[in-house]
Amino acid sequence: MPHKQTKAVRIQTERTNEMEHSTPLFLTSSFCFDNTEEMRAAFADESDDNIYSRFSNPGVQEFIDKMCALEDAEAGYATASGMSAVFGSFMALMKQGDHLLGCNAIFGSTHTVISKYLPRFGIEFSYVPADATEKDWEAAIRPNTKMIYLETPTNPGLDVLDLEMIGRVAKKHNIIFNVDNCFATPMAQQPIAYGADLVVHSATKWLDGQGRVLGGVVVGKKELIKEIYLFCRSTGPALSPFNAWVLSKSLETLDVRMERHASNALFISEALEKHEKISSLRYPFLQSHPQYAIAKKQMQNGGGVVCFELKGGLDAGRKFLNSLEMLSLTANLGDTRSIASHPASTTHAKLSEAERQAVNITPGLIRISVGLEHKEDILNDILQALEKC
Ligand SMILES: *Cc1c(COP(=O)(O)O)cnc(C)c1O
Repeated sequence: MPHKQTKAVRIQTERTNEMEHSTPLFLTSSFCFDNTEEMRAAFADESDDNIYSRFSNPGVQEFIDKMCALEDAEAGYATASGMSAVFGSFMALMKQGDHLLGCNAIFGSTHTVISKYLPRFGIEFSYVPADATEKDWEAAIRPNTKMIYLETPTNPGLDVLDLEMIGRVAKKHNIIFNVDNCFATPMAQQPIAYGADLVVHSATKWLDGQGRVLGGVVVGKKELIKEIYLFCRSTGPALSPFNAWVLSKSLETLDVRMERHASNALFISEALEKHEKISSLRYPFLQSHPQYAIAKKQMQNGGGVVCFELKGGLDAGRKFLNSLEMLSLTANLGDTRSIASHPASTTHAKLSEAERQAVNITPGLIRISVGLEHKEDILNDILQALEKC
């Protein structure tokens, strides 16, 4: 069996008569049939011929096949964005009266979907904190708990949750275990090995890795993906064939990119950890990280995100961002270009002060998505900005 790195490079749509080397772009809304019988069979699900690009497309399928290989999953469906993957995985599998159990340290828009929109459809939710023990997770389970949903490492606080422990709890109670693996990527962490039934991704981040396109994907157990596929093919959040073409090429370089992102991030973390303007710094592969042992157990590298707290709080945070000369101020993460952000005033501004505090988003918290520039240039820009705040 080839390694996952090889599969990410070599999985490809069947070569056409033109004998192309790189996969062509199948920019077509629909597909032709030779006769009514073939068309009937496709619509009756008796063949897997492509019908319409809201249902399937060869380039989109190539991206899905690579993601299934990387995550060691049976099947998948690709979506227009990470949020449509998250939303599709909720709506296809839960109904009125069900309960979703999550961790409160969660991506801002996911929190909005869970806390504002799911209840409108009669789906209850509750959260446990990132440092919840096995007992805490057990105690939070209700008779109607249908899904456990979490991210690890979390955004932006970089808490690491124990996938093995939570996977065990989910299995014991026969609950769907759904993991957002956006921050780690399958090159660092494969949640299915710890019992996840579903893995969702924002492909917009590290999978693209170059800040170009939006995309999402959900992979996992065949019978669950079938439901998600049927929900999505009717409701319409399909991934664009163009974005799929970009994303599939991106996966060919994912392993080498993530290796460098992670080594740059570790270098920056070690250099800044004791800086006089910083009160605390978090990176999963630093020994000082509160869940270092869990990170080492379930991750092959610490990922590309570092966060730290400035002693000067909100004011220092603003000054720091305004003093950066190279790092970009932008909402994205997981780019070749290093990015600095201030969650309290941007991505997590919709949370109340108390909710932010509960997930450790303090006023002076800075999140750095470490890029592929030379590590010393990234560090030097951060250092000169720290001088000014
Ligand atoms: C960005 C992000 C999402 C949402 O993805 P989009 O592609 O922006 O819709 C979901 N989860 C995490 C952890 C993210 O960082």
